[in-house]
Amino acid sequence: MIRKVNLAKIEGEGDFSCPKCGVKISPEDETENIYTIQESIIGEDDHLKELIIRCNKCNSTISVEGFDALFEEENQRIEISKELSDSIPGFRTCHDVMIDGQYLGKLVVEYAQKEDVKAFKRLRKLHVGDAFKCLITISERDTELKEEDILVMAKVLRRKFKGLKAKDTYVSEIREGSKKLLGKY
Ligand SMILES: [Zn+2]
Repeated sequence: MIRKVNLAKIEGEGDFSCPKCGVKISPEDETENIYTIQESIIGEDDHLKELIIRCNKCNSTISVEGFDALFEEENQRIEISKELSDSIPGFRTCHDVMIDGQYLGKLVVEYAQKEDVKAFKRLRKLHVGDAFKCLITISERDTELKEEDILVMAKVLRRKFKGLKAKDTYVSEIREGSKKLLGKY
């Protein structure tokens, strides 16, 4: 039996209680302590449509829907282009990223191969084809990008590219012609 939760019908930031045992579940929690993601279903508009999760406390399966309303504002701020021609599907894809309608920089997404799954075995559970690393290079710009903007961008990327977790997005910027790592988000 799959229990259903529709976030559009719940007030707040997307937190909800497990329909069976009542444990508090937050979609922003990426630790997998409270719940485990079983499947992410992406809609035709490329946005997260449904998430199938398992509550780790009572083991029930929950279908979570209604992300559009919750994430609409963030999704609208960040635009990620379709795969650019230098992409190698399943291995590495390249995209342009825009923020608030302005060009931000280049994005490279890397997808786990058999070797990666083996190499990471003790550190984390990876599946072949899952995105596991993102590299963003922010082009030279007049105004510094705010930390909160970078955080929003990282969140949008995690929702778009299945498998990405916190600290998987490496953000660098070009400043006076040289590239500097800003951090992992
Ligand atoms: Zn539960």
